[in-house]
Amino acid sequence: MTQWTDFQAKLSEYFHSGQQISFWWREDDVSYDCANLRIVLDVLSKYNVPVLCGAIPKLLTLDMILTLKQYTNVSVCQHGLFHQNNYTQGHKCEFDTNESLGQLLIGRDFLRTTFASQFINVYIPPWNNISKSFKDFLLANGYCAVSAWNYSPDRKRPYNFDVDLIDWSKSESFEDESFVIRQILQCFERNDFHIGIVNHHRTISKKGVKFIEKLLAEFSKYPNISWFLPF
Ligand SMILES: [Zn+2]
Repeated sequence: MTQWTDFQAKLSEYFHSGQQISFWWREDDVSYDCANLRIVLDVLSKYNVPVLCGAIPKLLTLDMILTLKQYTNVSVCQHGLFHQNNYTQGHKCEFDTNESLGQLLIGRDFLRTTFASQFINVYIPPWNNISKSFKDFLLANGYCAVSAWNYSPDRKRPYNFDVDLIDWSKSESFEDESFVIRQILQCFERNDFHIGIVNHHRTISKKGVKFIEKLLAEFSKYPNISWFLPF
């Protein structure tokens, strides 16, 4: 069931059964202006796909800010502060203690002032790593949501993503469309029809962009498929 034609058949089946399906898009590691990001945003814009850009406050350049402001389909939220690993043991992580709240809020408020109505008060932890206690602390201290990934179907949260375009265990670049299709089909199989997709424009590759366009063009054929941010 990982072939493209099988995937198309599944989408057609849901169209005929009237099953509503929604997707949302997260674009991580937004910092300096680069051609790759503009290419991806142009494709998303062409298909009217709203996108949540996780911006790294201390690495964000003026060029990038001006670029993001040109896209009406772009919302911006906070992705760490410097996106640096502060932990030498265990998973990579930037912040995970309550004492770091002050630093994070400086970054958050910079983004809020800079992007005004484009800003969404969501925190994306670098590498998606955050402890439950720190996550709860952020939610109790002004953040509306923390967006990481749905590592377990039993712990599905609508603001966590489900599908990664890149198989990081194999490569830092897009390799194989069946890897993506398989993840979407797995969501369908467990009756999950609100699906978050994450992309990293920096390493997506031309092949990856081509697949994004193919995927969005396919989805656009179906009126039962919609796009909206869950925040
Ligand atoms: Zn990141």
